[in-house]
Order: sequence, then C-alpha cells, then structure tokens
Amino acid sequence: MSEAGFASEAASAADPREELAELVASTRALIEWYESVGASDVLVDGSAESALAPLIPGARAAAPRGAAPMPAFAAPAPAPTFAALVAVPAPDVVVARAATPQFVAPSFATPSFATPAAPQRAPAAAFADAAIAVAAPAARPALPAPVVAAAFDPERAAIAAESDDRRTHLAVLAGEARACTRCVLHTTRKQAVFARGNPFAELVFVGEGPGAGEDAQGLPFVGPSGQLLDKMILGMGYHPDDVYICNIVKCRPPENRKPEPTEMAMCSPFVTQQLALIKPKVIVALGATAVQGLLPNVTEGITRMRGKWKVYGKQLTPVMPTFHPAYLLRSPDAKRDVWNDLKAVMEKLGKPLRKG
Ligand code: SF4
Repeated sequence: MSEAGFASEAASAADPREELAELVASTRALIEWYESVGASDVLVDGSAESALAPLIPGARAAAPRGAAPMPAFAAPAPAPTFAALVAVPAPDVVVARAATPQFVAPSFATPSFATPAAPQRAPAAAFADAAIAVAAPAARPALPAPVVAAAFDPERAAIAAESDDRRTHLAVLAGEARACTRCVLHTTRKQAVFARGNPFAELVFVGEGPGAGEDAQGLPFVGPSGQLLDKMILGMGYHPDDVYICNIVKCRPPENRKPEPTEMAMCSPFVTQQLALIKPKVIVALGATAVQGLLPNVTEGITRMRGKWKVYGKQLTPVMPTFHPAYLLRSPDAKRDVWNDLKAVMEKLGKPLRKG
C-alpha cells in the first residue's frame, strides 16, 4: 500500500465513522460508474446493495495487502441495506441502522456500539451447567488445541524477504525520481509523482503524466480524472488501494502538454523498473501516450487500438489499451467502450464480470 494508503487506513481504524463515511462515498462512486455505462445488471440480484461487496471490511479482509486481490464480487451476503447507508447523512445513525454483524468491522466495537454483555447466569444455573458437563462431556464444545510455537517456515520467510525487498526497491526508485534531472521537465515540476497503490497488485494502470493537482500533491490521478479512474476500478470489483497506478513520465509537462518522445525515453527506466518489480498479470494503458511509452514501436491511434490486446516485455505481460479518463470526462459516450475493455481485463484475470 502507498504511504497515503497506510495513513488513511490508520485514520479510519481510529475512527469508525470516517471508515463508514468512506464506504458510503465509495459505494456512491461505484454505482455512479455502473449507471454511466448502463451496467446495472453487474449488481448481484440487480440491486445496488451488492455493489458494497468489494467494499465491505469483512470481505476485503479476505484479501490483505500483499496478497492477490479478492475476486470480483465475492461473498457479498449478507450486506446492509443500501438505503440505510446512503439515505442517512450522519454516519453514527447509519451504524445504528446497519444491523448485519459482517458489515460492522471489528474496529467498530467501541463502547458506544458494543453488543450488550450476556446476562449473568444465576449460581443455580451455573451448577446445572457443571452437572451437564460431567454427565455428558461430549455435548460440550471441544477445548482448543494447545498453542504451540509456529515452526520456522523457509518459504514464508523467503516471501517476506521478497516483499520487503520490493518495497525497498520501489522506495529507492521513488527517491531517484524525486532527485532526477534527466530531462527538462524537472525544471518546471513542483515534485516528481511516482505512484500510488499496492506494490503487490496483479493489475497496474499506466497513464501519461501528472497534471497540476498531481504535481501539487505528489500522487498520480488525484484530480477529476483520478476520481473517474477510481470509479472504474471500483466497478471492476477492486478497491483503488488494491491496484498500482503510475505514469509514463514522472514530472508534469508544462501546460499539461503531451510529453515529448525524448522526455518519455529519458523517463522510461522508471516505469520499466516499476513493472519489473511489481510483475503484474495485466497492464491497462490509459491513452495513446501510455501505450507508446510502454511499446515504442506502436504507432496506431488509441481509437483504433483500444480493446485489442498487446504484450509488454520479456514476460509478455498482456496490455489492454483504452481511453484515458480525461478523455472520458470530455466524451462520456466512450465510457461504454472503456467498460468493455475493463471487462476483457477481468476475464483475462479469471474474474469475469457480468455482461452489461
Ligand atoms: Fe527525470 Fe522523468 Fe522527471 Fe524527466 S520526467 S526529470 S526523466 S523523473
């Protein structure tokens, strides 16, 4: 997870109301995306409630950071009613209405929301329990097995070492980008924008370059394009923190112009090393510049090549070219094409979405 991701997770763990407010906002974003592409049938049972599946804390706990993301829409039931989540603006009232135990994350067990303690049994009842225990021990639940110290597992240790190694390498690369002066873009940037998301993601999104908001915040896709990208990611059944998002060039081109070929070439070692470390199963290239940055020999326009699989690098990683979210903001009709491309991506990942 990105540092920002850790920070937000820590904050939400501290305040369940913030966590719930984020959940409601994410659900709204997800449903907006489905409505915009006319894909309401993706929702299980045709109901908006099932859109919560990728966002329910219990469900996400099944796919911890560093592991493969959860399958799309896995195990949604039982979910709280959508009306109860979105109709009431005050998160504490929402909590009162969300009666489903699965939905209430463990961190919600604060004194104010805690389940009332079980009533004390009278001494006579306790004696009766003891009598049952003696008379019919088989009827009592078995005692847990004694705890033994976990044996050293070299395979797990190797994975942990690799995990630390990857984070370290990416952190070093990010530092190099921040200090980089290889091309002229360093003269006008506020800061280099390296990436956000999960370094162990199976799915990577590559865009063109940072805009003004990204240049100011130091994170990619944080403006209106980024909000739309997050909706697309939610629509695929992922949380934005579960995928990895970066750009071809790490510094903002002035006036948001396209990066020059020389600038892309100078910056390409960064994205090459990012992808070599992350080893995604699929890459989504957002816009023609992203495709050309990854595959310099490709000269087609994005309209012709979107939706057609390409391959990247020695590992022959599948690349899906599609429109950049900024283009979708100007041409909303193209969202349906992008949705079809994203469904093809999910199919490639073995997690097909319903047709819609
Ligand atoms: Fe360096 Fe890339 Fe920034 Fe150019 S765009 S200065 S190559 S990090």
